[in-house]
Amino acid sequence: MLASKFFMPTLKENPADAIVPSHIYLVRAGFIRPLAAGIYEYLPLGFRVLKKIENIIRKHMDNAGALELLLPILTPASLWKETGRWDVYGKELFRLKDRKDTDFALGPTHEETITDLVRKNVRSYKDLPLNFYQIQTKFRDEARPRYGLIRGREFIMKDGYSFDVSEEDAIKTYEVMKDAYHKIFKELGLDYLMVEADVGAIGGKFSHEFVVKVPSGEAHIVYCEKCGYAANVEAAKFHRHKLPPEPLLEKEKVYTPSIKSVEEVANFLKVPITKIVKTLIYKADEKDYVAVLIRGDIELNETKLTNHLKAIEVRLANPEELESLGIPEGFAGPIGLNIPILADKSVEDLHNFVVGANEKDYHYINVNIPRDFKIEGFYDFGTAKEGDPCPVCHSPLKETTGLEVGHIFLLGTKYSKAMNANFVDKDGKEKPIIMGCYGIGVSRLISAIVEQYHDDKGIIWPDNVAPFKIHILILNTKDEKAMEVGFDIYRKLKEKGVEVLLDERDISAGMKFKDADLLGIPHRIVIGKSLQEGKVEYQKRDGSIKDLVNLEDMDSLLKGLL
Ligand SMILES: [Zn+2]
Repeated sequence: MLASKFFMPTLKENPADAIVPSHIYLVRAGFIRPLAAGIYEYLPLGFRVLKKIENIIRKHMDNAGALELLLPILTPASLWKETGRWDVYGKELFRLKDRKDTDFALGPTHEETITDLVRKNVRSYKDLPLNFYQIQTKFRDEARPRYGLIRGREFIMKDGYSFDVSEEDAIKTYEVMKDAYHKIFKELGLDYLMVEADVGAIGGKFSHEFVVKVPSGEAHIVYCEKCGYAANVEAAKFHRHKLPPEPLLEKEKVYTPSIKSVEEVANFLKVPITKIVKTLIYKADEKDYVAVLIRGDIELNETKLTNHLKAIEVRLANPEELESLGIPEGFAGPIGLNIPILADKSVEDLHNFVVGANEKDYHYINVNIPRDFKIEGFYDFGTAKEGDPCPVCHSPLKETTGLEVGHIFLLGTKYSKAMNANFVDKDGKEKPIIMGCYGIGVSRLISAIVEQYHDDKGIIWPDNVAPFKIHILILNTKDEKAMEVGFDIYRKLKEKGVEVLLDERDISAGMKFKDADLLGIPHRIVIGKSLQEGKVEYQKRDGSIKDLVNLEDMDSLLKGLL
């Protein structure tokens, strides 16, 4: 490709709303352009990278036995209503009506659509297993689209869905997909972690996320360097050290004037923060109240609580709601409370602890379960943090941030039961099909790669996904010899099928270098002053090589590169 005939509108300035490197460089280097909030155009450079990523994904999905198809983007509301997600999805679902006033949605995901296809065409165990995938534009009306391609309202995904006759078979398929995902992210050159994840709104039995390590990432991960345990904070477990038994002391109400926070109470009563038990009053799905007890040094994990309650959302009760329950703000406690009480496992072997007294300016000390009040049970509601003991080997956990690029779920029968997607098994009985689903954020991967491959001058594409492999710069286009040599190398590379960009534009050498650094094509041949000595310069964009090469050695250099 000749740069003079190509479209690569580079910018000198950072886009005003861009904070993260991938957003800045993809726009500045002319890979993408915004059309509206969270909606981007892929310019020829961006499109080339996108197709390479898609093809790597496609290769490994095909090798794993998945079948590519393409489902409609426009999906009828009737399908979403069958699973209840027409309501659950809320404002994130892009909804529209056709001329007959029938409701439709632009698909953010396709469990309903594919399940409908399968239930209409699968009758018997002989028709299974099936494993489909598609690479398609998806829509989600994000409240805050940001970071360029990282969180958009229109984006490209690879979504896959598997259908098996038994959970055992479904787990095998899940493992095959997991393996394919590892191959994909390795081939893309990403530094990533596979982590245990929350099943969230999609629902199901278990799931894993593939998270690329980036400082600006929105996913919070805890992991263990010793045994390899890794999980999204929303789902992360941690070990709670067993406490030694203590003789039970007499419960006592103490005056704690205006002392509310855990730290204040601990200081005032001169007890460690681990002796304080917080009583958090939550409202689930805007109807039911529940009290949750958790040790003073542990943050409650609302995802775990939501899942335990099988709720769609939970929130802390506000002061007026607390008042209606007879609880003064800051002094909530479990004793005498008339709502269900749940406790985190951190409270299980705690003795003689401190709780609020449900009375302004008072706390109870030396409180014990079950002597002083009853609870429904001990569960895991804690948020893991750096330093907490690993749930597997008890070594201290580490924390990092990342960008989720893949997510796989063993769905079980959540969708097949809701939509009557059944098959007749060998024993003649009708059973629901066992499903899995497997997503990859294809357009987001462009950003993820740039987040890991850039410097202060621009992008440094890995060879596998680079828009071009070799960038030839002719610094002085008035120099006939330079033009001749440049075009000669260009033609030879083209004949070999190498993707090459030749910058023969009539602009300054400085601008050519600036653009080349911004674009990030991995290999570069510079035809400049040293041509007088019969030499050209070979550079790697990552800075690891900068060599003068004799023209007669060019062929062997290019051979080495390919
Ligand atoms: Zn561990």
